[in-house]
Amino acid sequence: MVELHCHLDGSLRLSTLEELLRQKNCPIPEDIRFHPGMGIQEALSKFLTTLSALQEPDAVERVTREICEDAREFRHLHTEIRFAPQLHLGAPTEEIVDAAISGLDENANLILCGLYGEPPSVLNNLVEIARTRPRVVGIDLAGAPLKDHRYHLMDYDEPLLEQENWASEEPYTPPKGVRPKRSTSRSTSFTPNVLVTD
Ligand SMILES: [Zn+2]
Repeated sequence: MVELHCHLDGSLRLSTLEELLRQKNCPIPEDIRFHPGMGIQEALSKFLTTLSALQEPDAVERVTREICEDAREFRHLHTEIRFAPQLHLGAPTEEIVDAAISGLDENANLILCGLYGEPPSVLNNLVEIARTRPRVVGIDLAGAPLKDHRYHLMDYDEPLLEQENWASEEPYTPPKGVRPKRSTSRSTSFTPNVLVTD
C-alpha cells in the first residue's frame, strides 16, 4: 500500500501524545481519537491538541520517525507525510522542516502545507525552504476559501507557479512500485506536485 495523505499531526501514537502532553503539563483529553459520525469541526479541534504537543523540533522528529516505523510495520511501500511547519512555533520554520526530515526513512517524503487564508508570503517561504530540500516533494494549499478570507486562489499564484518552476528543474521520480497517475486535463497551471485540497 502507498499512503499519499498522512497528516503528521494526525498520526501520533496515543502513548506518544500522552507523554508529550505530560511533559508540557498540558491536560490529556479523555477522548482524543476520531470516531465515526464526528463533524469536521470536532475533527479539527483534535488537531489543536496534537499540534500543541508538537511545537518543538524534537517532538516533530520523534513523531515523524514513529510514523515511518508504523508504516514499515503495516508494510506500506511509501508514505507522504504532510504538515504545516509554520504552525510549529518552537523553532524557525526551517528547523521544524529539518527536524521532520531527520525523522524520515527511505520510504517517506514530506509535503508542506500552506493554509488558505494565510498571507501568500507564508506559502512563498515554504517554497523557498523546499527548494534546497529534496525530501520535500510537494507544496499543498490546504483548506478552502471562506467568506472572511482576505485571499483568493489567484493571490497564491506567485508561490505556486514559482514552485512549478522549481519542480520542473528536476522531475519528480515516484518511488519504486508506485505508478504515477496521468492527469487527463491540463485545465489548471499546476503541476502534479502542487496540490490544492479541501
Ligand atoms: Zn488532509
